[in-house]
Amino acid sequence: MNILRLAIPSPLRRTFDYLARSPEDSELKPGTRIKVSFGRRELIGLLLEVVDKTDIPSDKLKPIIAVLDEKPVIPSYIIDLALWAADYYQHPLGDALFHAVPTYLRKGNSAHLAPHTVWCAEPLGAEKISSRASAQKALFELISAHEHGVSKAALTAEGANTALLSKLAASGAISEHEISATPNHPEHLLKEPPLALNTEQQAALHRITESEGFTSYLLDGVTGSGKTEVYLQAIHHCLSSGRQALVLVPEIGLTPQTLQRFHHRFRCDIVVMHSNLTDKQRFEAWSKAKSGQAAIVIGTRSAIFTPLETAGIIIVDEEHDGSFKQQDGFRYSARDLAIVRGHGEQIPVVLGSATPALESLANCHKQRSNHLTLRSRAGNAQAPTFALLDIRKKPLTNGFSSDLLALIKKHLESGTQALIFINRRGFAPSLMCHSCGWISECRRCDARMTLHQSPPHLHCHHCDSQRPIPRQCDHCGADDLRPMGTGTERAEMTLKQHFNDVPILRVDRDSTARKGAMDNIIAETLKGEPCILIGTQMLAKGHHFPKVTLVAILDADGGLFSTDFHGMERTAQLIMQVAGRAGRASHPGHVVLQTHQPDHPLLNTLTTQGYEAFAKEELLLRQQYHQPPFTHMALLRAEASTQGRSIALLQAIRDHFSPHAPYCQWSGPFPSPMEKRAGVYRAQVSLTAAQRPALQHLLKLICTTLETHPLANKVRWSVDVDPYDL
Ligand code: ADP
Ligand code: ZN
Ligand code: ZN
Repeated sequence: MNILRLAIPSPLRRTFDYLARSPEDSELKPGTRIKVSFGRRELIGLLLEVVDKTDIPSDKLKPIIAVLDEKPVIPSYIIDLALWAADYYQHPLGDALFHAVPTYLRKGNSAHLAPHTVWCAEPLGAEKISSRASAQKALFELISAHEHGVSKAALTAEGANTALLSKLAASGAISEHEISATPNHPEHLLKEPPLALNTEQQAALHRITESEGFTSYLLDGVTGSGKTEVYLQAIHHCLSSGRQALVLVPEIGLTPQTLQRFHHRFRCDIVVMHSNLTDKQRFEAWSKAKSGQAAIVIGTRSAIFTPLETAGIIIVDEEHDGSFKQQDGFRYSARDLAIVRGHGEQIPVVLGSATPALESLANCHKQRSNHLTLRSRAGNAQAPTFALLDIRKKPLTNGFSSDLLALIKKHLESGTQALIFINRRGFAPSLMCHSCGWISECRRCDARMTLHQSPPHLHCHHCDSQRPIPRQCDHCGADDLRPMGTGTERAEMTLKQHFNDVPILRVDRDSTARKGAMDNIIAETLKGEPCILIGTQMLAKGHHFPKVTLVAILDADGGLFSTDFHGMERTAQLIMQVAGRAGRASHPGHVVLQTHQPDHPLLNTLTTQGYEAFAKEELLLRQQYHQPPFTHMALLRAEASTQGRSIALLQAIRDHFSPHAPYCQWSGPFPSPMEKRAGVYRAQVSLTAAQRPALQHLLKLICTTLETHPLANKVRWSVDVDPYDL
C-alpha cells in the first residue's frame, strides 16, 4: 500500500495519511502540494513522505484528490527548518510548515509564473504593415523606439493600444521574446567602489569571509561604526563566488534609506520581502530567490523561510529587535532560526547590533558565537556625550523641564537640529476627572484610553476601541475633565508654543499613516535646516539624521521598574538606539535623559560606560537570579472569555506535572500583566529549567495533555518558548 503522509494547515499536532491513487503518486517528492478532503472541506496539504504502513484502518483511509505540482515547491531544507521550528517552539507541525509556503501557493495557484516577455520590432517590420493601418504603424514605431524590446505592461503604461500586438505579430512586423534572468556576473557586481575599511572593520570582514561552512558571528558595534559597510563587503564576497545573500531586518528597519544602500552598491537583482506586498508580488520575489535569480534577498521576520538556490550568507541586522520574534500563533524567533538555518546549510551567519541581546552576548561567552567588535565610529564621526537631567522637584511643562527647553534653544540657535523621543503617541495617556478622579478606561481591556486631539477621540491602543471624548465625567457628571501626562501630540503642541520659528516634525503611527508622509519628514530633516523632530520608536531605528546634535529622552524611567526581567535590557537598548541618531558625520551629539532616578546604578553604568559595561552587569544579575540566558524559559499562556477559567486550567497543569518535574521552576499561574485585553481574560505560568532538553520534553507532555484536557475546552492556550516579553 502506498501512503502519502501530509502536513495539513491545522491546529492538530500530527501528520495525516492519505492513499495514493496510482503508482505514479508514490513517486512524488516531499514538498509537493496535494489536494485532499479533510473533514467536510477540501484542503491543500504538503507531502512529507511516502510510506507503506499507517495506523489508520484501511476503510478510513481516503485517497488524495489531486496533485498540484510536477516538482516540489518547497525544498527539503526549508521543510526541515520548519519542522525543526515546530518541534522547538511546540507548535502544530502543519501550521508551522505552511508559514514556509507563500500565501499565493497556499491558495492553490500554479507555481509557474508566466515568463516575462518583451516585444521587439523586426528589422524590416515596417514594410510588412499595410499603409492604411495607421494605428498598427503607430504601435510599431513605439516598439521600435525600444532597442531591447518592451513589455506589454510598459506599452500599456505608455498608452498604446496593445490589442493590436497579435495582429502585428501575425504579419511578422514584431516578435515576442522571453527575457531570461539577468545573470549576476561577478566582475560587474559593483556599481560603486567599496569604502576603504578601518582596522576593526577589516578584521571583522576577514573573520567572516575566511569561514568555511557554518560559523556564527556577533558583529557588535555602536551606531555609525560601519556595520552596514561590513555587511555590504561580506555580501560582495559571497556574491562573487556565485552565491546568494539573505538579509533580515526589523519590521521598522526596512526603510528606503536601507534599500538604497544596497541598490547603490550592487548591480544585481535584489528582492524585498515584507508584509505590504500582494500575495502575487510576494510569490514573485520568493520565486526569484528560489531560482537563484535574485542575488540578494532582504526581508523581515518571515523571510527566514525563503528558499535560496545557493545560499552563501545570512545576515540579521539589529538582531536584538523584538520584531524578529513572532508574538502570536507560531511564536518563532527568526534570529534564532537564522542560526539553525546557517548550521543546516553550512553557511556563515552574522548577527549585527549596536546593542546586542544579552543571549547573543552570552553565546559569545560560551564560544558558540564569535564576537566581532567595532568600537570606533567609522569616518570621522565622534561618539555622543550623555547627561542625566535630574527632574526631581523641577517644574515641568507637559513633560519638558526648563533646562531641556533651554538646551533645545541653544542647539537650534547654533544651526543644528534636535530630536525628542517620547514613547507614547496621542495627546495624553489618559483623561481624568478633576472632581472625583475617574479615569477614561477601556471597557474591553484593563487599560486606560489614550486621548487623541487630531482627530479628537479616545483610543485604546491595545484593542483599538474608540469613543468620542466625553464632555462630562462618566462617574460624577462634573465637566472638568483633564488630560493626564504627555503623548507625542501634546509634546508637539508644547514645542510649537516655545519654538514658533522652526518646523516641528512629529513622527508616530498617526502622523505617518498617509503614504509618503514619513519620506517627506525625512526629506525635510535631511535638508539640514534647524528643526525639531519629535516622535516614538519609529524615529529610533534605521534613520540617519546627520544634522541632529541634541537627542532628548523625555522620560527615561518608564522601563526601569518593569515586572518583566527583560525590562532593563529593553530600556538600555532603546536609549542607545535613540542616542545613535545623534552626532553622525562631523557633528558631535549630546544625549540628554530626563529622569527621576539620577542615581539608578544601571542607568549610570549605561550612560557613563556604555552598553557593553551595562550588559556585563545585567548578565551578572541574570546569573544570580537564575534567569535566561543562564536558564531556559517557556511560558504557558491561556485566555478565555470568563475570568478564572485560564488560571484554573494552568493550575491544573501545574498540579499535574510539577511533582514529577523537580528540575523545573514554576512561577504562577498569574493573571497576565494586562489581564483583560480585547474582552478576554489572560493568564500565564512560566517554566524555567537549567537544561533545555528536560524542559522541551516536559512541554511536549504538557501539550499532549492540554489537547484533550476537559478544562481546555473553552480556553485558548499556547506555548511561548524563549518568550520575548512576559
Ligand atoms: P552602522 O551600520 O554601524 O550604523 P554604517 O555602515 O551605516 O554604520 O556607517 C556609518 C557611516 O559611516 C556611513 O555613512 C558610512 O558610509 C560611513 N562609513 C562606514 N565605513 C566607513 C569607512 N571605512 N570609511 C569611511 N566611512 C565609512
Ligand atoms: Zn468625576
Ligand atoms: Zn481596549
